[in-house]
Amino acid sequence: MSEMQIKPIALYNTLTRQKAPFAPIDPHHVRMYVCGPTVYDLAHIGNARPVIVFDVLFRLLRLVYGETHVTYARNITDVDDKINARAAERFKDLAPTAAIAKLTQETTAQFHADIAALGVLSPTVEPRATGHIAEMVVLCDALIAKGHAYVAEDHVLFDTTSMADYGKLANRSLDEMEAGARVDVAPYKKGAMDFVLWKPSTAEQPGWPSPAGIKKHGRPGWHIECSAMAEKHLGQVFDIHGGGVDLVFPHHENEIAQSRCAHGTPTMANVWMHNGFLQVEGEKMSKSLGNFYAINDLLTTDVFGQQAWHGRVLRFAMLSTHYRQPIDWTVDRLTQAKHTLQEFAELVHGVAGGGAPNPDVIGALSDDLNTPSAISILHGLAKSAKRGDGAKASELRTTLEFIGLYGGETAAELSLQQHANVDAVKVRALIADRLEARRAKDFKASDRIRDELAAMGVVLKDAKSPTTGEIVTTWEYKR
Ligand code: AMP
Ligand code: ZN
Repeated sequence: MSEMQIKPIALYNTLTRQKAPFAPIDPHHVRMYVCGPTVYDLAHIGNARPVIVFDVLFRLLRLVYGETHVTYARNITDVDDKINARAAERFKDLAPTAAIAKLTQETTAQFHADIAALGVLSPTVEPRATGHIAEMVVLCDALIAKGHAYVAEDHVLFDTTSMADYGKLANRSLDEMEAGARVDVAPYKKGAMDFVLWKPSTAEQPGWPSPAGIKKHGRPGWHIECSAMAEKHLGQVFDIHGGGVDLVFPHHENEIAQSRCAHGTPTMANVWMHNGFLQVEGEKMSKSLGNFYAINDLLTTDVFGQQAWHGRVLRFAMLSTHYRQPIDWTVDRLTQAKHTLQEFAELVHGVAGGGAPNPDVIGALSDDLNTPSAISILHGLAKSAKRGDGAKASELRTTLEFIGLYGGETAAELSLQQHANVDAVKVRALIADRLEARRAKDFKASDRIRDELAAMGVVLKDAKSPTTGEIVTTWEYKR
């Protein structure tokens, strides 16, 4: 696609607390980093929000600057204490590093399958933390050499007092933060807000050769992972950095501290964008409240009102609230999203697309991703299409495809998939057993599990993940 002349994109920047016109550092190359999932379990519907929101921004940037002029890096955090614990529990006979590799490959493949159903494009690069350990060690050593970090009890810690404007993103001063810090600060920390860049590993934890001449093997802290991956793929200073609002402090504040102090730069990224939180039927989503939904649950099973939902419906529902607002995930919202998408699908079915997306929709998205306004413009197009305006029907199709809200589905396919009586947790466990059997080349066992699932009305489809090469199995209930 060629560069498109439209009104400039304006984005709200958490760092300046203002919406301002966006201008990339290199006018012909936009660079964006978004913090991706920690892959120890199925991604939940809250995790889907940044994935969908920044996918829309990626699509807009590609339209405006040209497809080959945007680099979007969305990482995979594949080393972390939650991952270590889960891997040790599941793969008792493997060494820690091999165990986390196995768990994270499997979880990443499932994540890819889940978000593909949500109409999400692959980012330009998807760096994994364990592929960038050497870069993290270099960053630790640079921070120590410049007096911004110190070694204590085999840890490397960032010295927050060494940075004059630490706390700028979170809009809090170091004094304020220190006053509010809890009393049980680790004894080896010089300052209460100092944070871990590197920590020692036991024999039961994955470990790599440490920086700063520390003899024990160790592993990185979470924040240093993103500083290293962003630098490797986007450079020391880049355009846009995104994630959920929960990451502003400490994760993003600490990424900024590490990157700026290691490189001696005044900024890490020019624009910092944060999506609001998702809650379910007015409550915080949590396992203990029983209202915790994996993306995969909503796509496949009879949770949340005894219905499964089409991925495009989930995407539409997510975009019906502005990304900076909190979003309440309700059955009503999903039902409404489904009806609207069904109406759109009927109007564009059999209509040729092919032109440019509607300029007013592009204008709304350019205004800090105003998706609610874009959706109301789509309704206007639908109205004209309903009156028999073929050009508007065609434009509606192109625009829906551009936002990722249409991929040729019929209204019937977008309808609820009734999955009463299928226990998705059991289905997933059987699928995992079958994959295990296939890996062990026990095809008898794998066929037996397939038959068992078929008897439950569950039909399997195997596909190879293009990114990891792992086999991913998706399922459908057919009765
Ligand atoms: P995590 O795997 O917890 O590091 O989260 C991955 C991404 O999902 C981060 O950008 C988080 O900010 C985002 N996220 C997690 N929970 C929610 C939620 N309930 N609503 C919106 N975003 C979320
Ligand atoms: Zn990050």
